[in-house]
Amino acid sequence: MGARDPNGIRPLVLGTFLSNGITRYVLASETCALDIIGAEYLREVEPGELVWITEAGLASFHWAKKPERKLCIFEMIYFARPDSLMHEETLYRYRVRLGEQLAKESPVDADFVMGVPDSGIPAAIGYSRHSGIPYEEGLIKNRYVGRTFIQPTQTMRESGIRMKLNPLKDVLAGKRAIIVDDSIVRGTTSRKIVREMREAGAKEVHMRISSPPVTHPCFYGIDTDSQDQLIAATKSVTEIAAQLGVDSLAYLSWEGMLAATGEDPNSFCSACFTGDYPVPVPDPLKRAKLRLEELAV
Ligand code: SF4
Repeated sequence: MGARDPNGIRPLVLGTFLSNGITRYVLASETCALDIIGAEYLREVEPGELVWITEAGLASFHWAKKPERKLCIFEMIYFARPDSLMHEETLYRYRVRLGEQLAKESPVDADFVMGVPDSGIPAAIGYSRHSGIPYEEGLIKNRYVGRTFIQPTQTMRESGIRMKLNPLKDVLAGKRAIIVDDSIVRGTTSRKIVREMREAGAKEVHMRISSPPVTHPCFYGIDTDSQDQLIAATKSVTEIAAQLGVDSLAYLSWEGMLAATGEDPNSFCSACFTGDYPVPVPDPLKRAKLRLEELAV
């Protein structure tokens, strides 16, 4: 059995494969998991749908009274893999469009564009494509350490970053670089990356972010910190730029992020950028994660 919540906040897909001449069904969060086992993508499980797979085949029930699609936009920006399909295209293509839009909104002159591996790379390619500024690799990722932002302590996160990315000195030395990342949550990773780029000799570092400032915590299954840990919840873009040590900083607009989906902007949750939570959050949870000023509103 597989069930999806009435808002379809998290993705869930159905695939099929043949086993001994019989069609079998498989459920996965993302289509890239189907590719691994050689299954074919059939369709997504709808918001508020329950699918029941038995020897007899597939049965479908709609259990929610008022399903209303609110897919997590952060799945499209960062969480899901770029080789997964959403809205009948890979997320790689969506993320390239985010970078193109970012270049339209926030141009800057530089010698090259680079991405923070791996999640910032498609948007960096898009930025390069739209601006005509060459794309380069300036940071090499160590593939044997995990994602930093979900590490439980600051010390673990800092050491995680040290092990994770290594700057290419002969690419960066004496150059003006545009570095593109998918988001800034606490700013820990970005600050460290900028410092390492400067130490490697970069003359100018311009940071471009392919999503708007993250100002609110998630209450729908993503373990982000409380609001006071989010750098954009308490600081302006100018203050963040100073803290990160960049020559300039710009984020993608909320409108640009949603327009690039090509879908109805109302069919997404984007609460971590706006505080507009599509599913009511119980007060004790709010009190645990939101700042006092927000609670007073
Ligand atoms: S609050 Fe942000 S991370 Fe959480 S579901 Fe909404 S868009 Fe996704």
